[in-house]
Amino acid sequence: MIRPNMYYNELKDSYLFYNIAQKTKAYTEQHPGTELLRMGIGDVSLPLCDAVIKALYEAVQDQASKTTFHGYMPECGAPFLREAIAKYYEKRAVHLSPEEIFVSSGASDELGDILDLFDRSNASLVIEPAYPAYVDANVMAGRKILHLASGEENSFLPEPTEEIEADILYICSPNNPTGAVFSRSQLQAWVDFANQKGAVILFDAAYEAFIEDESLPHSIYELKGAKTCAIEICSLSKTAGFTGTRLGYTVIPKALKRAGMNLNDMWVRNRTTKTNGVSYIIQKGGAAVFTEEGQKQIHENIRIYKENAKVLMKALDQLGIWYCGGKNAPYIWMKCPEGMGSWEFFDYLLHEIQVVGTPGEGFGSCGENYFRFSTFGAPEDTKEASERLVKLLSR
Ligand code: PLP
Repeated sequence: MIRPNMYYNELKDSYLFYNIAQKTKAYTEQHPGTELLRMGIGDVSLPLCDAVIKALYEAVQDQASKTTFHGYMPECGAPFLREAIAKYYEKRAVHLSPEEIFVSSGASDELGDILDLFDRSNASLVIEPAYPAYVDANVMAGRKILHLASGEENSFLPEPTEEIEADILYICSPNNPTGAVFSRSQLQAWVDFANQKGAVILFDAAYEAFIEDESLPHSIYELKGAKTCAIEICSLSKTAGFTGTRLGYTVIPKALKRAGMNLNDMWVRNRTTKTNGVSYIIQKGGAAVFTEEGQKQIHENIRIYKENAKVLMKALDQLGIWYCGGKNAPYIWMKCPEGMGSWEFFDYLLHEIQVVGTPGEGFGSCGENYFRFSTFGAPEDTKEASERLVKLLSR
């Protein structure tokens, strides 16, 4: 009889968003007609920008005619998009060849699939609080996981220490859920550590476009030595509103080698076996993001989310509540008042002011007394939620 992957038994119930949905459903059933202010969503609320829509329409038209029709696309990505992304990196003096960039259907897909490159005996390090998919993908693969807790004492940006015995190092900066961003010197310490240990960093840069502080690195390849120890995983989901359209990219430098194996070559072999590429239409839409016009338009949307962040941060400042994030990230990570637990605070906000956020405990046990607000909601909801929060917590 077939034996399923028994490691699935070791997965914890993905109860975070399920629990939130259950609690909000129960509340609205008991209070019919009540509008909830949803400040927990990780999805964007603004539509795709005009430059992308125009490119998508044109690409659909291309598919209607024999002379411009495209069938299968190259598995690792269309050259026009790989080149556009390489040029985008040039702006930060990061020199990549288009062959070092792999077009994907999004960061989630890649965060799971990329583990194919590594032996099951490797251990993974997850800095917590963390995006839950890192842990789950490794549990499914039967890999040992080291949980590195972070906290206010290191501004949720821990340093590597000699005791860390891990081969795959997850780093997410700007971070989901904390919104914290590693400085150049902090990230350099992780790069040096990975090179010294022969480990590989999986750098999740899904929120790089939200960085506004010029001194902070957008890409790990801005740091010396990163090309020999890091894979960078990026997404257009939050940057350009592609959550439902699906497009991302992964960088694997040709200089990244372990045990005589070249990880870029391995990933080419993997992609040419396991995918038939991303659709021509979507890649055309994605390429429009990297044009001058596209960049202007996506940053206009990001500016609107940043205004939401400012409104929320002002409310927390007024209340004297500790928080991080918001300035260079679309998330604000606040300390629950008066020692409340994160689910306790969730219930309190839901019942008292009809505001829904995300309990920090869902991102790892060190998130227990913290709470995440997303800034992807509508400006009027964010304003109203902030006002209610100030009223409630200054009582
Ligand atoms: N990485 C992080 C840190 C995220 O927060 C998310 C989505 O919320 C993703 C990756 C997934 O992005 P995608 O929509 O490209 O799959």
